[in-house]
Amino acid sequence: MIYLDNHATTKIDPLVLSEMMPYLTELYGNPSSRYHSFGWEAERAVENAREQVAKLINADPHEIIFTSGATESNNMVIKCTKSSNIVTTYIEHSSILKPIAAFADHVIKLNVGYDGVFTVCYCDREIDFVSVMLANNETGVIQPISNLKESFPNAKIHSDMAQALGKIPINIKDLDVDYASFSGHKLYGPKGVGALYIKDGTDNCIFPLLHGGGHEKGLRAGTQNVPSIVGFGKACELAKQRLDSDYWYIKTLKHQFYNCLLFRLGGDLIKFYGESAPNLPGCLCFSLKCGNMDVFLTELGKNVAISSGSACLSLSGSTSYVLTAMQIPEEEIKKSIRVSIGRFNTESEILEAVDYIVDAFNKSFEGE
Ligand code: PMP
Repeated sequence: MIYLDNHATTKIDPLVLSEMMPYLTELYGNPSSRYHSFGWEAERAVENAREQVAKLINADPHEIIFTSGATESNNMVIKCTKSSNIVTTYIEHSSILKPIAAFADHVIKLNVGYDGVFTVCYCDREIDFVSVMLANNETGVIQPISNLKESFPNAKIHSDMAQALGKIPINIKDLDVDYASFSGHKLYGPKGVGALYIKDGTDNCIFPLLHGGGHEKGLRAGTQNVPSIVGFGKACELAKQRLDSDYWYIKTLKHQFYNCLLFRLGGDLIKFYGESAPNLPGCLCFSLKCGNMDVFLTELGKNVAISSGSACLSLSGSTSYVLTAMQIPEEEIKKSIRVSIGRFNTESEILEAVDYIVDAFNKSFEGE
C-alpha cells in the first residue's frame, strides 16, 4: 500500500517512537508525584516536551497546555471562553463548527471564495470571539489569519492550527492570536495528544473543560499522558529541525504528482481545487471526470490510501461542506479526492500512485 493520506494522520517517526519507549516501560512515574525520582523524571519529561512544542511556534513554554488533541483544544476554547457573538468560517473542522452550533448565542460564518480563502464581512454586532483555521484539512489552503485582530479588535482570536503545525513555519506572535489548537498525530507524533496555546499563559476568559486535579495549571485535569506528550515534543523538535527540508521535499513530490497526473489524464478530466491560493506543501484536492466513483475508490483503495473529503467527515457519510462553500458543483464534489503527501513518501511511490489512479480511473467506466 502507498500511503497518501497524511492529512488524516501520519506514520509515527521512528525517532519519536524511540523517545517514547522508556516512558511506556521503566519510566512510568506520575508527573504530580512530588517525593520520588519516578515523579521528578516524568515531570522533567513533560516540561521538556512543553519547551519543544513552544519552540516550534515561537511561544513561551508557559503558554502551552497539553490536551488529548486538537478536538479537545477546539472544544475547550469554544465551550469554556463563554463567548456569545462568534465569527467563524464555513470551512472549519467539525470540532469547531459543532461546539459553536451547540454553545454560541449568535454566529456569523464567513464565506470563502473559489480559491478556498475566507473573506471578512462587515458585522454590526460586537464580536467577542473569532475562530479561523490556519490551514484547511481538505484543500490545504492557508488562511490569512494575521489580519483578524485588525478586523475584530475587541474579540479574542483563536486558530485551529492542527494541519499547519510542522508543515509551514508558525510564528504565533506574528499571527497575533490569543489561542491556538494543535495535534500530535498530524506531524509524525502519537495520536491522542495535542496542545492549546494560551497567549501569556493565563487568561481570565478561559475555564477548564475537564475539572478535577490541578494539572496543567488547573486548566486541564487528569494525569498527563507522559509517553504521548514526550512523543509530541520530540515530533515538534524534529519538525523544527526539518521544516525547510521537509517542506521542499514534499512540495517537489506534490509537483511531480500534479504534473504526472495531468500528463497522463489531460487537463479536461481533472480539476484541482485551492491551487491558486497559498497552500500546504503536500496537499492536492481534485475531482476526476471518472465513471462510477465507488468503483474508482474501491479499485484505488487496493493499492493507494487516499481520502475522499476529510476522515472525520466520512464517519457521518456527508459530502464535503468545504468544497460546497467554495461553490464547487455537487457532481464534482462527489468525484473529488484528497491526496496528502508526507515525509516518508518517495518519488517512486508518487509515480506508482499515479499509475494506480489512471488504472482505477479507466476501470471506473467498465460496465457503464
Ligand atoms: N482540526 C483539524 C483542521 C483537523 O484536520 C483535525 C484532524 N482531522 C482536527 C482538528 C482534530 O484533531 P485531533 O485528531 O487531534 O482531535
